[in-house]
Amino acid sequence: MVMEQKGNEIFQYWEFENEPLIWGMNIGEVPALKSYRDSLERVLGKNGFEAAVQKEASQNDSQDIPDSGNGDRINARLVHSGRVGTIRSMNLLEAELLNYQLSRYPLLSHPTEFHAFILFHDSLHHVRVYFAASDQPWPPKPAVILESIKKDLKQSWKLRYHMHNHYEPKSNNYVGILAPSVADAQYFAFLSEDFNLDKALITNGFYTVEIESREFPKFRTPPK
Ligand SMILES: [Zn+2]
Repeated sequence: MVMEQKGNEIFQYWEFENEPLIWGMNIGEVPALKSYRDSLERVLGKNGFEAAVQKEASQNDSQDIPDSGNGDRINARLVHSGRVGTIRSMNLLEAELLNYQLSRYPLLSHPTEFHAFILFHDSLHHVRVYFAASDQPWPPKPAVILESIKKDLKQSWKLRYHMHNHYEPKSNNYVGILAPSVADAQYFAFLSEDFNLDKALITNGFYTVEIESREFPKFRTPPK
């Protein structure tokens, strides 16, 4: 269901039964995502590709976390040291959502970020997924979605996940960092406070990091 379309900005949602296979690691047919993975392997070479994917999946970096300096880098270190969040393979729902955006704009040739808001209704056993994206590198401000979520929360829906995707430029081997930027961390804090967000998800098309809301305060936010 399309809620609003402004130029290339799109805001829409889907609602469906909460089936266990949605959260399973069998991601099925996702042609645009598969094409991204295959192209990346071609561009980086088999070894370079595997190294780039594994680098972003690891959580055993033993280096100390600096007290100051680049907040984005500190946040990445917090995840890759295993101190915050859990990195796992991406699940079917995440793969479908990323595949949907990549079928609009292929990630290698036209990189974009989408974001999604995933709500649960316990007695209906339904999942509602709001999706916002455009043709730009950053996702559009989801005012129309947040208005709708406000109403949902009054009708026993719960905001379980916020999800978005990361990628990197060619100079950094394309594969997205599985940690929140300082701006992401600030946004997660806002969603937790105003919408009672449960968990944040960031995916790079291979793996996803899952972060519980009680862990949000551990991340750096933009300097005041
Ligand atoms: Zn981000």
